[in-house]
Amino acid sequence: MGCKTLERQAKNQTDLAMDQGNWVICPDCDQLYRFSADTLSVGDKVTCSRCGALLSQKKADTYNRALAYTLTSLVLFIIANSFPLLTLKMGGREQASALFTGVQAMAELGMWDLAVLVFATTILVPLLQILGMLFVLMPLRFNIHVGRPALIFRIVKYLAHWGMVEVFMLGVLAAIVKLISMAEVVPNIALFAFAGLMFTSAAASSSLDSGAVWRQLDRSS
Ligand SMILES: [Zn+2]
Repeated sequence: MGCKTLERQAKNQTDLAMDQGNWVICPDCDQLYRFSADTLSVGDKVTCSRCGALLSQKKADTYNRALAYTLTSLVLFIIANSFPLLTLKMGGREQASALFTGVQAMAELGMWDLAVLVFATTILVPLLQILGMLFVLMPLRFNIHVGRPALIFRIVKYLAHWGMVEVFMLGVLAAIVKLISMAEVVPNIALFAFAGLMFTSAAASSSLDSGAVWRQLDRSS
């Protein structure tokens, strides 16, 4: 089982209460362990004795931090979708383009598949992720009972593979570099909000202790 190695690898020689607690399977090599993550102190990490993969990590103030980053993400998301991303100035003409007008333009040009893909990965999925996180974390933080939080959390985890805000930002930056020789390109507030959203959503997921969420959902069900 490698439990002793597991104990040694926990920082600060934390008492892991072996043979008690939940079964944990290594995500990389399928080695099975049993320990209680509730006994870990902030900053402690438990790694697999066979492959070194991270099994559990106690994060500081996880709900408050994840909630703060998620709420910030929601504000940035609203700004990113309410204002133009860029303004193009060429030959005395000005054209402002927003995220949704870009999707609309692709649909009008008959590029339906691309329009659906951009809409899903840059608008729909990030919004569902933010709302899903709030739906799960708010009740956990304030001890309120809501229906099916485990299902929503599973969906939020699954959606993480489909949010592609970073890819979109790269595309926008590439477009700016190409357009800058032909026209004056003025970045607008939505572009900065979008860039900020990239960081706040990454911060929300890295500050969230998913194991703690599952354990609390399990206890409250
Ligand atoms: Zn492993």
